[in-house]
Amino acid sequence: MSRPDAGLGRGPAGRRTLRIYFIKPSQYDADGFVLHYRWGIIPNNTLTVLGGLNDAYAQMRPEMHLQTVLWDELVDDPIAPAVMQSIRAQGAADRVEVIIGLAGVQTGQYARARDLALQFRQLDLPVVIGGFHISGHAPSREFLQSLGVIVVVGEAETTWAWLLDDYLAGQLRPCYAVKGGVRAKTGVGDITVPLIHEAALPAIDARYLGRFFNPTLSTIDTSRGCPFACSYCAVKNVMGRTPRAREPARVIEWMRRAHDLHGVRSLFIVDDDFFCSPSWEPILSGLGALRRQGRDLTFMMQADVAAAADARPAAGEPATRRCHRSQRFVELAAAAGCYAVFIGFESFNPANLEHTRKFHNVDRRARRQSTRDLERAVAAVKARYQRTVETWHAAGVAVHAGYMIGLPFDGEGSGIQAAKDLTEIGVDVASFFPYTPLPGTEDYEHAVAAGAIVDYDFNHWDCLHVINQHPTLTPREVYREYCAAHRGFYTWRRLAWALATSYRVPGLTAAARYGMLTQQLYYTYAYRRGWHPMMGGIWRRRDESARREVVWDDEARALYAAGTTSRLSSCSRTGAG
Ligand code: SF4
Repeated sequence: MSRPDAGLGRGPAGRRTLRIYFIKPSQYDADGFVLHYRWGIIPNNTLTVLGGLNDAYAQMRPEMHLQTVLWDELVDDPIAPAVMQSIRAQGAADRVEVIIGLAGVQTGQYARARDLALQFRQLDLPVVIGGFHISGHAPSREFLQSLGVIVVVGEAETTWAWLLDDYLAGQLRPCYAVKGGVRAKTGVGDITVPLIHEAALPAIDARYLGRFFNPTLSTIDTSRGCPFACSYCAVKNVMGRTPRAREPARVIEWMRRAHDLHGVRSLFIVDDDFFCSPSWEPILSGLGALRRQGRDLTFMMQADVAAAADARPAAGEPATRRCHRSQRFVELAAAAGCYAVFIGFESFNPANLEHTRKFHNVDRRARRQSTRDLERAVAAVKARYQRTVETWHAAGVAVHAGYMIGLPFDGEGSGIQAAKDLTEIGVDVASFFPYTPLPGTEDYEHAVAAGAIVDYDFNHWDCLHVINQHPTLTPREVYREYCAAHRGFYTWRRLAWALATSYRVPGLTAAARYGMLTQQLYYTYAYRRGWHPMMGGIWRRRDESARREVVWDDEARALYAAGTTSRLSSCSRTGAG
């Protein structure tokens, strides 16, 4: 397989050239190998957004030449020590300056990202790191900074050009946080977040898309931030609770060009809750217009329960403004080519939803009932979820449910019950997650204070391990419930029926049926292989040249950073030869 940086050479004579590697780290498997696959499922949006920011910087500084490499370890080769050496050597041979950017680091990828960062630092290359884990976990930031790794906190829109300017001036700082923008509330205080109205749109990299099972699928974030305050979620704390949107006309033009010039036929709108975007209406209308002009674009998105549950007024009740808004959203989404919507159901138990502050999944009456009659309150939540699924199905759109196992009010049998209930209400695809109080969230702070974390090896915080103590179940029992949930949902019977009928669910469009058929196959395959479908891919590969050597930060410091200092100046021109 050719490397993502194959074919790059010297920059134009007389122009300073930066070769910037945006690397999405993978994680280690149980044997210490770096997880990677022949084909991925969904491209990483952070990588393409950073690629877009690089393109924008190049336009701003025509005296510079920028080369951008997007490298996703999950689908490209793992970055073994020999590869790092060659990155440095090739940079020197080409007389370009190399910068390493470890992008979109989530907690489960921290160990791999840290090991890469320190090994690149050993080669005296400048290393920048960012992502939800880096933004949300101060001890990891402090550790990396102490060894000369530059950390970026929050979104990169206002920091990336600032950081590159500092690099060019030989004045890199240890930490970059969002400057300029608006103040936004979080779950615990407030932060500054960038306005993204005019921000650079994601780059489309044909080589990168070619690494995925569906090479005509691309991603875009049209808005950021979420107004809700779920206690387990880092989104609201890193991106704030004030939704901000890209300029709709620019988004639609990006989609048109993606289709016409790059062959993109399917989009994943990765906004955490597209229904909360200030711009869903013009964007859905614009997408609908592209389709009416003959473009066969379809998309999937994420939205909250209320987006469809509120579209149907309860029997005998008048349609409210909220109801009209939901109806319009569903209608426009269907006309715009939406074939699937991902919804965080998370639990049928209103006590769990209350506990995690996921109030918007429960209607007001059920919230009052939950303290008096739990059985009726559970039935009310189930009815609300069912209304959501039926509304989407009636519009031709399939429903993909997110569901957590191991919330405090779960107990023995919760896993199989969840599978039964999700099947009964007609959910098409379900992603199950063991409850994980991620760094950067209120739940993490509480779990740490209560001494409830039983496994601090962040490599295990990966949607496959149980890392905290449940009030009544052991971690092993929670894991059993998690396995019972996905085995109970992805049965051979379900798969056989999906294959035999080409996923014939009344109401679904042809695109939704095809999407669900392939997802049934993939999810059954991934769960049965012991992978989490959202973190996996197709055809697992094993590369002996990149293995885990250490677990803890101190061990990583001893192995990779002996003699490395936090001094930044030594790396500011490395690779220029
Ligand atoms: S609705 Fe989703 S994105 Fe918003 S706070 Fe809750 S979990 Fe996070």
